[in-house]
Amino acid sequence: APEKKQPEIKGKAIPGIKNIIAVASGKGGVGKSTVTSNLAVTLAKMGFKVGILDADIYGPSTPMMFDVEAERPLSVNVNGKSKMKPVENYGVKILSIGFFTKPNQAVVWRGPMAAKALNQMIFDADWGELDFMLVDLPPGTGDIHLSIMQSLPITGSVIVSTPQNVALADAKKGVAMFQQESINVPVLGIIENMAYFTPEELPENKYYIFGQEGAKNLAKDLKVPFLGEIPLVQSLRESGDIGRPAALQTATPLEKAFEDITRNMV
Ligand code: ADP
Repeated sequence: APEKKQPEIKGKAIPGIKNIIAVASGKGGVGKSTVTSNLAVTLAKMGFKVGILDADIYGPSTPMMFDVEAERPLSVNVNGKSKMKPVENYGVKILSIGFFTKPNQAVVWRGPMAAKALNQMIFDADWGELDFMLVDLPPGTGDIHLSIMQSLPITGSVIVSTPQNVALADAKKGVAMFQQESINVPVLGIIENMAYFTPEELPENKYYIFGQEGAKNLAKDLKVPFLGEIPLVQSLRESGDIGRPAALQTATPLEKAFEDITRNMV
């Protein structure tokens, strides 16, 4: 795998895992999981060893986005200890809070229960060697975020937002959360999702459905990097639903958009 510059790691290191990147959004439904899954497959295509820790206790969607909903992590023996083996697809290792529930079952994860499950997925799991672990955080900035950030040695964070004002206001809180003194996780940058829409029949036209360059401007205001934008594309939604991230497909504008963002991030 390519060499990667090594940032300073704080907290309890996990042997074998080089970089842990938290992907956050202020608001739900802005495409945080879609972006996480596509960044993960892009990193894997670049030759990095990648894992996703899906910590979204409100709606763990990674198993669906990787077509592994019916699978469950196996238990393996590592040096006399029983460990969870992440499920793998498209070169990405996955553990999700969704693997702890039955399909279609609505589980309300209470804080301590969620924290325990997350701890197991982090420390009682056989991740092997990883260049990058992407952590799909729940939306918002609550207690669960604090507990994840206290138990994980996070090397950097990425915030996904649409250009819409309500999403931006919450994205700003997300940046503030990572930058607060007790947490102090470097913000690698902001990604603008659903930046614009281009109808097939009018390929020259861009429609700024959720507003124009809102996340880009927020990044400028907050003096954090802007990592790039992803348009609103029907095939991106469809690929998530069928469990085959769009960025797997080669020579498409989406592949390029995710590659550009990934290069800006690592
Ligand atoms: P979050 O993780 O922030 O809740 P999701 O990744 O689950 O958001 O995305 C919410 C919905 O929007 C999903 O149905 C997803 O397929 C769709 N979606 C996300 N980003 C885009 C995009 N750029 N273009 C089209 N649909 C998108």
